[in-house]
Amino acid sequence: VRDGYEVIVIGGGVVGASVAYHLTRFGCDEVLVLDRGEAAGGGTAKSCAIVRTHYSVTSNTELAVASIDIFRDFPRYLDHDDVASGFINSGYLIVAPPGETADMMSQNLDAQREHGANTFAIDPAEATRLHPLLDFSDVGVIAYEPESGYADPYLTTSGFMTAAKRAGVEVRTNTPVTGLLRNGDNVTGVVTPNGAITAGTVISVMGPWTGDLAGWVGADLPLEVSRHTVLTFKNSEPYPPDLPIVKDLTTANKMYFRPSAGGVVLVGTGDHGEPIAQADDMSAPLPDDFVFLQGTQIANRMPSFADAGLVDSWYGPYDITPDWNPVMGRLDGIDGLYLAYGFSGHGFKLAPAVGRNIAQAVLGLQTDVDIDPYRPSRFSEGDLLVGSYGIGSIS
Ligand SMILES: Cc1cc2nc3c(=O)[nH]c(=O)nc-3n(C[C@H](O)[C@H](O)[C@H](O)COP(=O)(O)OP(=O)(O)OC[C@H]3O[C@@H](n4cnc5c(N)ncnc54)[C@H](O)[C@@H]3O)c2cc1C
Repeated sequence: VRDGYEVIVIGGGVVGASVAYHLTRFGCDEVLVLDRGEAAGGGTAKSCAIVRTHYSVTSNTELAVASIDIFRDFPRYLDHDDVASGFINSGYLIVAPPGETADMMSQNLDAQREHGANTFAIDPAEATRLHPLLDFSDVGVIAYEPESGYADPYLTTSGFMTAAKRAGVEVRTNTPVTGLLRNGDNVTGVVTPNGAITAGTVISVMGPWTGDLAGWVGADLPLEVSRHTVLTFKNSEPYPPDLPIVKDLTTANKMYFRPSAGGVVLVGTGDHGEPIAQADDMSAPLPDDFVFLQGTQIANRMPSFADAGLVDSWYGPYDITPDWNPVMGRLDGIDGLYLAYGFSGHGFKLAPAVGRNIAQAVLGLQTDVDIDPYRPSRFSEGDLLVGSYGIGSIS
């Protein structure tokens, strides 16, 4: 077992895989990725993997716009014929109730276009042409993103890992990091059950398990972890795989739904979810009233789903920060450590550009996007990245 890497990446989720690949893209290939389980086995495994550019925080839109290009052109971007992101260009519809939310959404569309997003408002006739099953009678505004869609979280993560490994990156799974090596205020490596491993820089991308890192460095890293439920429903007719994704801001839990394999519709929520003390706590029984609520909301938006049946369900963890936006950067007073966490339910779509910009920052290069707004100190400075939709993964 060798020791002494330029960079150790803790966490082999989609963000860690993208960081590892992009380090090699910018010339750093002495990289080790460690995961306590399997790559893509954490929050990434449970992701609905929706890729859209609608945000009110414009730096999120910039990262999403840059990422969408990578999802759409994955093998060419990675210069590898045998990788795929599984991206399906279904398009994305977002609807808001009349009044304040509709007005705000229209303003956000202007800002998104200024930051490179292909998005615009459409009328109900056009929306019905795109998605004939939807009822738009109660909505104030409908926006459409023709280039958006959904991808495959496992394929995307393993694609980045494959390209990273080809460039020399080592990946060790089933290897938990249990602490950091320190020399005063300098992080010099990691501790694992098989021994310590040194590195010039350690990058923590531990997702919902980042509370462990806070303990190791003795820092206050604001983070709440919650359990989210995804349901799939099936109607008498298979749900076509190319129907646009729908985000429904008329619902209190900011419901979204999209096609999924086997002719089902996959339904999730963009709200807080169930608070949990441990990110591994995924064993609760499925509440009947939640299934009923989601079934009712789906039938309101798609009347033909009034008699649809529940097919499957799963839970996944969100790592939520106080402003529902990710943290990326260094901690004041600690050298040799870079961290990214708190993707608050919307990190999959950002991961390609996030990995690229983190790699640039760690290697001392100019970043494509200004990621200073995501710095960890923003919480203590009171300079939060507050979005206009309130809490939720559409920050
Ligand atoms: C139900 C659900 C639906 C979602 N839908 C969407 C969506 O439609 N669109 C979107 O953009 N985002 C979505 N998200 C969010 C998105 O999936 C996440 O933000 C993203 O996958 C986070 O990736 P990550 O690499 O930061 O974290 P993770 O995938 O959780 O990876 C962290 C990794 O760190 C490892 N790790 C932790 N501790 C240690 C340790 N001590 N030592 C070694 N390894 C360690 C873990 O094993 C894990 O593999 C969804 C999330 C959920 C749960």
